[in-house]
Amino acid sequence: MNVYYQSTRGGGEKVTASKAILMGLAEDGGLFVPDHLPKLDRSLEELAAEDYKECAHDVMKLLLTDYSEEELKECIAKAYDSKFDTPEIAPMAEAEGAYYLELFHGKTIAFKDMALSILPHLMITAARKNKDERTIVILTATSGDTGKAALAGFADVPGTKIIVFYPKDGVSPIQKRQMITQTGSNTCVIGVDGNFDDCQTEVKRIFTDEAENRKLNGNGYRFSSANSINIGRLVPQIVYYVYAYTRLVREGRIKAGDPVNFCVPTGNFGNILAAYYAGQMGIPVHKLICASNSNRVLYDFFTTGTYDRNRRFVLTMSPSMDILVSSNLERLIYHIAGDDAGKNAELMKELSAEGKYSITPEMREKLRIFTGGYASEEDTAEAIRSLYEDTGYVIDPHTAVARHVYQQYAKESGDKTPTVIASTASPFKFETSVLRSLGQPAEGDDLALADALSRIANVPVPEAVESLRGAAVRHTKVTDRAGMEREVSAFLGI
Ligand SMILES: *Cc1c(COP(=O)(O)O)cnc(C)c1O
Repeated sequence: MNVYYQSTRGGGEKVTASKAILMGLAEDGGLFVPDHLPKLDRSLEELAAEDYKECAHDVMKLLLTDYSEEELKECIAKAYDSKFDTPEIAPMAEAEGAYYLELFHGKTIAFKDMALSILPHLMITAARKNKDERTIVILTATSGDTGKAALAGFADVPGTKIIVFYPKDGVSPIQKRQMITQTGSNTCVIGVDGNFDDCQTEVKRIFTDEAENRKLNGNGYRFSSANSINIGRLVPQIVYYVYAYTRLVREGRIKAGDPVNFCVPTGNFGNILAAYYAGQMGIPVHKLICASNSNRVLYDFFTTGTYDRNRRFVLTMSPSMDILVSSNLERLIYHIAGDDAGKNAELMKELSAEGKYSITPEMREKLRIFTGGYASEEDTAEAIRSLYEDTGYVIDPHTAVARHVYQQYAKESGDKTPTVIASTASPFKFETSVLRSLGQPAEGDDLALADALSRIANVPVPEAVESLRGAAVRHTKVTDRAGMEREVSAFLGI
């Protein structure tokens, strides 16, 4: 049965997967959601015998139903190749009885690579299928990791241009260096005097602005998005939850059918929504543990039923989660309202007018699979330090937020269900915070710090960091929120 995609706000028509990927965001500003979630059509045991690529195909074919088998297999083959530093693509490490699903073995050493390695291929294929010859302009707001992963994925891809906006003081030194040294004649990277929410809100506005879109079309361009609002980001992320579960089956850690928990460090709610979808498709899930940092807007939402962004924005050592408006939560709201676009649109209107909304008791009832927790900065540092002292395993601050929240949850609930923790970045990407948490000196050149961390963690410096040594800075522009649209036009020459 074909799956079609519709806006969470009810506007426009249902579209095919390839159309939804090309469009990125629905015309009414809503997010595309599948009209139903198909069940896995292979048994868990069969899936357990597959490698990452085969598993990716068996999951993605169910949701991207207008791609042919050949098209999909080609996209998968181009994405999950030697760009990853292990043939397993997403290996798992056990520490203290929990399973760390390492999603950082791609080109930019953060989990965003899992989806952004394949998105350019899905998009180019989508343009071909829809006979759209316009140049695709990827407009992206980043809290640090999406930007670089999208740049790496789209650099020099024919038929595309990519513009990335990042909060100029809101990303780690390595993240910044990765972005401003990006090569590729079709890339543009701009710092914004503001926080991630400023970048994201303005990108969304430009994206749906009628005058801007007319101007773009007149010049042979069309916008699309590499942010997790694009369904082409979400679908590839479902794969690794299926893969993780079936690895546990294969290794005899669980029996097929046994429930597991997924604990996910969360910002824009994309990664954990993918885990929710994996559960809906047939992976036995007991709890989805949503881990927040000090920007605990999601924790408050899960504990009170009220989403309230009216609060101080905090810069933390897990910057990719420094977010107060979690875009993808809109998809969950739509689903728990009973796929009711009217109800969702009403709440989103309240969010943009008042900065908050409350869900109904019936909707809350449907959230019972979720539980939330948060980690302060001290908790995060302590989670890095104690895990290292106990096991020698070094994790990044985002993963540390998840570890803290998981331990808190396990202690309070007594739940012994096997738990997979999404390990979303390599510690090398956030080495200053990691070294400081370990009580080590963290002053000086960021590349020298990588060497220090390598000695402590007893793992080699990843190629993604090695290659920054001596890389020339190519992007130095900074603007304010009001100047973002001007920069887009300037780069495109329109
Ligand atoms: C993006 C990111 C997150 C948050 O993921 P969401 O899908 O936005 O919830 C967590 N950790 C790292 C390292 C990230 O890059």
